[in-house]
Amino acid sequence: MTIAFAFDNSYARLPDRFYARLAPTPVAAPALVKLNVPLARSLGLDPAALASPAGVAVLAGNAVPPGADPLAMAYAGHQFGSFTPQLGDGRAILLGEVVASDGTRLDVQLKGSGPTPFSRRGDGRAALGPVLREYVISEAMHALGLPTTRSLAAVTTGEPVLRQQVLPGAVLTRIAQSHIRVGTFEWFGSRQDLDALRTLADYTIQRLAPEAAAAANPYRALLDVVIRRQAELIARWLGIGFIHGVMNTDNMALSGETIDYGPCAFMDAYDPATVYSSIDEMGRYAFANQPRIANWNLARLAQAMLPLLAGDEDQALAEGQAAVDAFPEQFQAAWQRVFRAKLGLARAEEGDVGLIHELLTRMAEQRADYTNTFRALATGDGSAARGEFEEPSGFDAWYAEWRRRLEREDGEPAARMRTANPAVIPRNHQVERALGAAEAGDLAPLDALLGALADPYAEPADPSYTRPPAPHEVVRATFCGT
Ligand code: AMP
Ligand code: MG
Repeated sequence: MTIAFAFDNSYARLPDRFYARLAPTPVAAPALVKLNVPLARSLGLDPAALASPAGVAVLAGNAVPPGADPLAMAYAGHQFGSFTPQLGDGRAILLGEVVASDGTRLDVQLKGSGPTPFSRRGDGRAALGPVLREYVISEAMHALGLPTTRSLAAVTTGEPVLRQQVLPGAVLTRIAQSHIRVGTFEWFGSRQDLDALRTLADYTIQRLAPEAAAAANPYRALLDVVIRRQAELIARWLGIGFIHGVMNTDNMALSGETIDYGPCAFMDAYDPATVYSSIDEMGRYAFANQPRIANWNLARLAQAMLPLLAGDEDQALAEGQAAVDAFPEQFQAAWQRVFRAKLGLARAEEGDVGLIHELLTRMAEQRADYTNTFRALATGDGSAARGEFEEPSGFDAWYAEWRRRLEREDGEPAARMRTANPAVIPRNHQVERALGAAEAGDLAPLDALLGALADPYAEPADPSYTRPPAPHEVVRATFCGT
C-alpha cells in the first residue's frame, strides 16, 4: 500500500536559515498504538494504508513518504522569562504540508523522531506516556471546540528512552495549522535578520492571516490578529479549566492553536492559583496567571517584530505598544463572552460580570469542582451544584440571584448552557490511569477515555468520567517528560 500524502511544502521553500533539512532517524521496531481515523480521512489519507506496515514505517520515521521535505524548524524562545536564542525542533521533524478537505493547509510533523541540529543535550526522542498524553488532551481540546493542534497517530519505537527511569519510546504525528511560534519571530528578531523577519511575516500573513495583507500596515495588522487570537484562546482555556503549564514563547503558536502539550492539566477543584507542572516552581504559569503571561509573550512578539512595524524607531515602538496594550481589553471581552455563555446570559446587563465573579469567588473559597458546578447549573440540577459547596449558604444566595437574572433571558438558557459547559474533561486521575494501562499494554482504558472525551457536552454513557478524583486519586503534579 502507498501512503499518499498530497504534500505541498511551502515552509521548505523558505530560505535555508529557517530550518535544518534532515530526515527522521529510523527506529528498531515500529508498532501502531493509536490512529485517528476521522482525522486521517479529513487529510485525504486512507486509514487502512496508514495502519499497514508501510504506513506505520512513515509514522515512526522509518520511511520518508513521497513528496515530503523533512526539516527541523528553527526558533528561539523565552523560557520561564529568560531568553534562549537557540531552541528549534530538537526532537521533531516537519514532513511537509497537506491541504485538508476544507482547504486548510496543515503541517504534518513527527514528534520524538530523533536528534536534530537543535537537540542540544536531548536525545531527540519522546516516551510513550507523554506522547499519549498529548494525543488524549489535544483531541479532547478539539472535541471541546478549542483551537488546537491535532494528533493523527501514536506509534511505539521498540527502543527505550532514558528519563528518570527507562521508558518505552514513541513518536506522535501532530497536525497543526502551522508550527510558527512567537519564538520563530524571536529567532530572527534577536539575530537582527531583517530580511528573514520580513519573509517570515509575509509568509505568516499569507498562510495564517490573509486578512492582514490588505491593511495599510500589514505587519501591524498581523500582530493585531495574533493578539486577538490569543485573547480569545486564553479566555477559552479559562472557560474549561485548562492550564497549559509551559507558556514559554516557543510554545505559543501564531495560528492561535493550543500547542505543545507537556505538563498541562485540567483543574478539578477550582483554585485560581492551581499549578500542576512539576517544573513551574514559582507558579509563573498558574491557572489565573495565563492571561498576564500571554500578554507578556505577545510583548516579546511585538519586540521581535519592531523593525517591521515602522521605519522610524519611535513610531515602531508606539505601534508595538499600542498593539500589545489592546490585549487586556480584548481578553476581558472574550472572557466575559465565555463566562456569560457558561451562565446562560445572552443579553448583557450591568450586574452580569459581578454575578460571574461572585460565583467564582464562592467556588474558590470552597474548592467546588470547576466542571461539575457549571455543568450542574447547565442541566438545571441546582441541588447537585449546591452539593459542591460544603457550606452552601453563600451559594444559595448567589443561586437565587442568578435564577432571578435568568428570568430576564429569552428562549432556553439551559440548552445554550449545556453547549458551553462540558460534562467530560480529561481529568488527571483518569488520564494517568489510562496512560498507565497503555504502558502496560492494555489500551482498553485509553480507548474508553477517548470515547468519552469525543463528545464532551453530552452525558457520558459511563458516569465515572464525570467524577472528580477521590482523595487518594488526586494528581498533584504533572511532568513534561522531555
Ligand atoms: P518543550 O519544553 O518541550 O516545548 O521543549 C523546549 C525545547 O527543548 C525545544 O527546542 C525542544 O525541541 C527541545 N527538546 C525537548 N525535549 C527534547 C529531547 N528529548 N531531545 C531533544 N530536544 C528536546
Ligand atoms: Mg515546545
